[in-house]
Amino acid sequence: MQEKGNISIHTENIFPIIKKFLYSDNEIFLRELVSNAVDAVQKIKRLAALGQYNGSLGDPKVSIAFDADTKTITVSDNGLGMTAEEIKKYINQIAFSGAEEFVEKFKDSKDANELIGKFGLGFYSAFMVADQVEIQSLSFQDGATPAHWVCDGSTEFEITEGSRTERGTDIILHINPDSEEFLDKHKLEGILEKYCKFLPVPIQFGTKTEYKSADVAEEESFDEAEIVEDDTTEDTATEGKEEKEEAKKEYKKPEEIEVPNIINNTTPIWTKAPTELKDEDYLKFYRELYPMTEEPLFWIHLNVDYPFNLTGVLYFPKVKNDIELQRNKIKLFSRQVFITDEVKDIVPEFLMLLHGVIDSPDIPLNVSRSFLQADSNVKKINSYITRKVADKLAELFKNDRKSYDEKWNDIGLFVKYGMISDEKFYEKAVDFALLTNTKKEYFTLTEYKDKVAPLQTDKDGKVIYIYCTEPEKQDSFIQSANKKGYDVLLMNSPLDSHYIQKLESKLEKVQIKRVDADVVDKLIDKEEKIESVLTADETTKVKAIFEKAINRKDMKVSVEGLSIDEQPVTVTMDEFMRRMKDMAKMGGGMSFYGMMPDNYNVAINGNHKLVSRILNTEGEEAQMKLAKQAFDLALLSQGMLTGAELTEFVNRSLQLI
Ligand code: ADP
Ligand code: MG
Repeated sequence: MQEKGNISIHTENIFPIIKKFLYSDNEIFLRELVSNAVDAVQKIKRLAALGQYNGSLGDPKVSIAFDADTKTITVSDNGLGMTAEEIKKYINQIAFSGAEEFVEKFKDSKDANELIGKFGLGFYSAFMVADQVEIQSLSFQDGATPAHWVCDGSTEFEITEGSRTERGTDIILHINPDSEEFLDKHKLEGILEKYCKFLPVPIQFGTKTEYKSADVAEEESFDEAEIVEDDTTEDTATEGKEEKEEAKKEYKKPEEIEVPNIINNTTPIWTKAPTELKDEDYLKFYRELYPMTEEPLFWIHLNVDYPFNLTGVLYFPKVKNDIELQRNKIKLFSRQVFITDEVKDIVPEFLMLLHGVIDSPDIPLNVSRSFLQADSNVKKINSYITRKVADKLAELFKNDRKSYDEKWNDIGLFVKYGMISDEKFYEKAVDFALLTNTKKEYFTLTEYKDKVAPLQTDKDGKVIYIYCTEPEKQDSFIQSANKKGYDVLLMNSPLDSHYIQKLESKLEKVQIKRVDADVVDKLIDKEEKIESVLTADETTKVKAIFEKAINRKDMKVSVEGLSIDEQPVTVTMDEFMRRMKDMAKMGGGMSFYGMMPDNYNVAINGNHKLVSRILNTEGEEAQMKLAKQAFDLALLSQGMLTGAELTEFVNRSLQLI
């Protein structure tokens, strides 16, 4: 039997394109070939289960071997095998049915996955690294003849009778000079580790020599030449023995013989039922996925089969403030083949902070961006995961409030992120989102409103929540607020400016202000007017003195009647303006505000003794000096006095003493 043929008349250009445009991703050839081999093994198992194959299955496995001398990589399986006809049908025709379109459309594409997926080029990805590919295959079918296919990377192929004596397939790649980096144990191990670690069929890996040595060691009398269709003939061979003895000597000294290792875990925990698993199993798997990482807080086991199929385990890590570092930790699998750790389109944005594994056969191996965006399953998967995560948090909250409070520091950022970015999640999270105050107490949104409403409701019936972002710097304001009986929330995480904005838009009759947004007497407008001891004339004078002393365009001075025990001078920034600027800093589409200069209000407490003293001081220069001193003290207490101004202040203070 010998046959030559042409793959397709339209495909002259296809190999150069595969090589050129897929180059950056060329390691995926191994993923493609190994998963084809795994499929072949799964298929023969299924045929056996269905009674359509009655021969012995043997130990189902896939082996990968390389030989640096002959520059080959071989992927072997004992799957269902292919006849010559099947090779022609599956390898030649299918792959190139869309070749013409392929050449036209993807001349400029850079997404190898997209190309491979769209045009069924899985097998042909071998040509990214090989300039000749051989298939040796023996079909499981009764009386099948082994087939040998060779293609040198042009559009021509050749089929002859093959030499395989046992059911299954070898794919032999003759590695091209540009790709010799793949003829390396560590390189291949790395790729297999990435894509094949959890494949459902045992995967062996070794050098060619290791395999030969192992064969010799395991099956002393094995002889290829004598073998017929039946594996009971093993021990009839004698002729090949000499050769084998030689091979033994030539290849390795005994202590170097290494039986190829099974490199994968065929039943990772996400394939098991949650009832079979203990906490320790989940933690062990987590350590396997992310060595050197802190233990996760808790996890959820995903398991659905309708309307889409999905399994997985998602872990909640301790979320640190550096969100970027924690992203892209979820690994996406399709039937246990690793696809990618960029799950951006499958997992809702805010859940990207989670770790773990998602496996869905509904997501094709050759997943591409445009596919994911268009796929309706992906949207369903998205909302399923969101719901599961919300349910888990609600359950933790309900079952053990105390330990939930303790975990809040670690999960708070994540929950807030979800509430800001996902309306459905917000709806669920209002029940278990917490607020923390400066006394480190935790409240749900409802609990908090009930707590502060009695003292913090303004004249229009709005409840004013007060918060601080930097308790150290804002201490004088916090103390003033506490003195009035007001509670102060702690909002110091990077997302809080957005979170506050969100809460304000969702919570009815609630307004949220930073503790230094105004003087404490006016932070909550209760229409309790405090009389000023100053006359109108004196008020104008005080204002003029301070304006001249401060002399800054960004400081707007006003004189007010405040409590006598309040500071003489307070520097504040309008809540709205400051929040918009904070959000602009975090990148919230508010860049317009980011460009505005900082503008402050300077409130002079007309009722403070120091103000009367300044009024009664003789001489403009002396008045100004005192006013400036009082202003600088206000800046100092808020950490706003620095550099030359601070030096000047220190010198002036020394003089005054
Ligand atoms: P896909 O895997 O998406 O079908 P491929 O190009 O990877 O596309 O493979 C084409 C076909 O070739 C497979 O569907 C399968 O029928 C056949 N095939 C490839 N590798 C093997 C193998 N090792 N054993 C049996 N059949 C195989
Ligand atoms: Mg394939």
